[in-house]
Amino acid sequence: MTPPEVGEHVDHLIVGAGFAGLCAAIKLQEDGERDFLVVEKGPDVGGTWRDNTYPGAACDVPSQLYSFSFAPNPEWSSSYSPGPEIQDYIRGVAARSGTLDRFVFDTTFDDASWDGAAGRWTVRITGPGGSRTLTATTLILGAGGLSEPRLPDIEGIGTFGGALFHSSRWDHSVDLTGKRIAVIGTGASAIQIVPELQAVASHLDVYQRTAPWVIPRNDRTYGALERRLLRTVPALGRLYRTGIYWAHEGYVPAFTIEPKIAAPAKKTAIANIHRGITDPALREKVTPYFEFGCKRVLRSNTYYPALAADSTELVTDPIARITETGVVTADGVERPVDVLVVATGFYTTELPVTDHITGSEGRTLGAVWRERGMAAYKGTTVPGFPNLFMLVGPNTGQGHTSMVFIIESQVAYVRDAIRTMRSRGWASVEPRPQALRRWNSDLQRRMRRTVWTRGGCSSWYLDEHGRNTTLWPKSTITFRRQLAAFDPDAYDVRRPTTTPSREDVPA
Ligand SMILES: Cc1cc2nc3c(=O)[nH]c(=O)nc-3n(C[C@H](O)[C@H](O)[C@H](O)COP(=O)(O)OP(=O)(O)OC[C@H]3O[C@@H](n4cnc5c(N)ncnc54)[C@H](O)[C@@H]3O)c2cc1C
Repeated sequence: MTPPEVGEHVDHLIVGAGFAGLCAAIKLQEDGERDFLVVEKGPDVGGTWRDNTYPGAACDVPSQLYSFSFAPNPEWSSSYSPGPEIQDYIRGVAARSGTLDRFVFDTTFDDASWDGAAGRWTVRITGPGGSRTLTATTLILGAGGLSEPRLPDIEGIGTFGGALFHSSRWDHSVDLTGKRIAVIGTGASAIQIVPELQAVASHLDVYQRTAPWVIPRNDRTYGALERRLLRTVPALGRLYRTGIYWAHEGYVPAFTIEPKIAAPAKKTAIANIHRGITDPALREKVTPYFEFGCKRVLRSNTYYPALAADSTELVTDPIARITETGVVTADGVERPVDVLVVATGFYTTELPVTDHITGSEGRTLGAVWRERGMAAYKGTTVPGFPNLFMLVGPNTGQGHTSMVFIIESQVAYVRDAIRTMRSRGWASVEPRPQALRRWNSDLQRRMRRTVWTRGGCSSWYLDEHGRNTTLWPKSTITFRRQLAAFDPDAYDVRRPTTTPSREDVPA
């Protein structure tokens, strides 16, 4: 099938070709839903793993679990596989799925508005051939929770004369050898980048606002025999995956019920500091002041030794401004820099794409969320936005386990919603406001007990009102169970007034 032309109708329009969009495409096809289009602004599948090509990029949940359950990979080279290997895996799954003929790359989803009379979304996309308008019965958003880089708002950043780039947009044309390099940020990407840069830079400054908790990574290379066993005895791979899943799930009570349960893990993190750093002043600087788990717990064996190296300075004075040649801190010291790496994360609590989706009341999802707070029923659907399904939506994030598990759970829900709509002849479904209210008040009530709320940190998990709109405050088994089947009782449904067809709409 060739992608639809201007003005055509598709049953399902999927935005994004990362783990989420790809999973939706594969599972819809399994259900016989072949009339879909995946719109991806990048040149390839992969999302996170296409974009994050920085040195040292790797997953921080073991690959056996950080992969699709329906596409196990016995060939992982190590327990925390490097980014390029994950990208190859996603490419391989996409190629074997037989869905790629319905992906359009280098094409941006611009906006969508719900046409209540026709019971469908009118969608504008822009690709190499220009802008096109399509209609779609359902809109499945897999645009990613960590895909829009957030640049820091620092005075003078635009005047910097050296090389400057965000960690997720690495400029590989810049030769880093022997350079003075600065990294702003000490989050998940930064702690992978810092050891790599320390190995090649003449000098490295690391600007830290908040020290993260870092436990050892315990990476392990899979030997040839182990890989052969995993290849020939698939049940072994499943067992392995299940073991990793439960080992990670063991963190949930410490995060959501009682932080004291994390005491042994906290001890391991402190031992990690002591192993990597001997200088007491530096040890103090890298020791977090907040509870273990309040911000994402990171994994590295090499981060602390890289900070302790003679050629590295950990700077904890706040950055006052950036000049043409360096970074000036609040104490007035200017440190010269050739290459400035910004590892300050992503837009998480306000997703730019939501300002381009207009619902049945003529308001954008972004505007609704700014007024009422970011929330979605089951992290997936929103009142006033019929037939919109968000993957990796509000309060679906994980601090301890694989997002692919969550994505598969959400896709199962969306599939069942579509099956239900087909079997009952419904044109659209939209969650009732009271269903969302109940769902969200339960989540926010549980959130009060979590370490993310009472652990003494401010993190990217929280919105401007201090509300956690990103993480799921229960076990992931509960999430899977709650999304196992579509629940029509929570929805307002509409029967078709017109039969969807491939008729033209204005371009
Ligand atoms: C460096 C890094 C490491 C990570 N490591 C882990 C890990 O170890 N374990 C874990 O569970 N999670 C990890 N994550 C989280 C990771 O983002 C998710 O695991 C997963 O990749 C999300 O998949 P996704 O498809 O939802 O989003 P993405 O992979 O971000 O894909 C979204 C896609 O949508 C496209 N898109 C966005 N807007 C538009 C638009 N308007 N038009 C067209 N296309 C659009 C983007 O180009 C992108 O390709 C990591 C994230 C980062 C940044």
